Amino acid sequence: MDNRFLLRNLKQLDGRQVNIEIASGRIVRVVEGEDGAAQSASDGVAGFSADIGTIDCGGAYVSSGWIDMHVHAFPAFDPYGDEIDEIGVKQGVATIVDAGSCGADRIGELAASGGSAKTNLLAFLNISRIGLSRIDELSQLEWLDGERVREAISRYPDFIVGLKARISRSVVGDSGIAPLRVARELSASTGLSLMVHIGSAPPAIEEVLSYLREGDIVTHYLNGKPNNLFDAEGRPIPALLDALGRGVRLDVGHGTASFSFRVAEAAKRHGIGLHTISSDIYRGNRLNGPVYSLANVMSKFLYLGYSLQEVVAAVTSGAAQWLGRPELGRIQAGGSRASDGI
Ligand code: ZN
Ligand code: ZN
Repeated sequence: MDNRFLLRNLKQLDGRQVNIEIASGRIVRVVEGEDGAAQSASDGVAGFSADIGTIDCGGAYVSSGWIDMHVHAFPAFDPYGDEIDEIGVKQGVATIVDAGSCGADRIGELAASGGSAKTNLLAFLNISRIGLSRIDELSQLEWLDGERVREAISRYPDFIVGLKARISRSVVGDSGIAPLRVARELSASTGLSLMVHIGSAPPAIEEVLSYLREGDIVTHYLNGKPNNLFDAEGRPIPALLDALGRGVRLDVGHGTASFSFRVAEAAKRHGIGLHTISSDIYRGNRLNGPVYSLANVMSKFLYLGYSLQEVVAAVTSGAAQWLGRPELGRIQAGGSRASDGI
């Protein structure tokens, strides 16, 4: 027995019907079309053998597995960590990208932990070797060790997808913009793009943005702290428009204190975003809010007036494209796990 069954009468976001056959936890076949809805299970479904179990999904929506571009999945760094599957497949999220919980010192442990999880795990490497073992990880320049960064990237080339630098007052302390300058150099020497966390000044947001290039990501773009990306009238600041013109991408990174409806409404009004929706989830803001889950964060964007297609694209194809893994954003057969494709 290979535990084979058919999910019938599903609907993609554009309204097209689809039937999906699963065997041993993997998608083995995807057939689009109306046939499944028109025939009863006992008659069989076009394109599938009649002798497998069938589940009528009653026209429920289906998408490729969601991708959360900003999570914290290293439980040892309490409270800023969580169990991989608690914030992954148990919440309908097939792929999570740890956003710099670990630097070079402990990235090997994080990479190893992904092997025993059902969720796909990728990571941004914190440019500080100590990662989030403390929350002022860029306040001492001696923690920025380029050699260790390059060594980690060459050891885990498929796991590390970019570099993370948290550039706000409480993280950089007296180091100011210097860590971002180092991050830029490391990006040039490794070929990896940056994900930059923004927050309170200094450094000033205009100076932070001036360092960012095509393919880099600003996370927490809807934060409502002073030093955010919109002026008092809710207009995008010129430095943001310049950065977007250069190909810089925007990521939500909701987190405990980095999402403001006021700012999100301003962004929507001015057509800024939507690129990727992410949660910045860890145990505390999962259990006690305000994050709870990626789905909960996504629902806020429906409330803001984005379409279901835009919202789901921001956690599927939009994220997959940035990752250079377009297959993660498609429903398809042949993934290594069921979670790869559905
Ligand atoms: Zn952050
Ligand atoms: Zn974070």
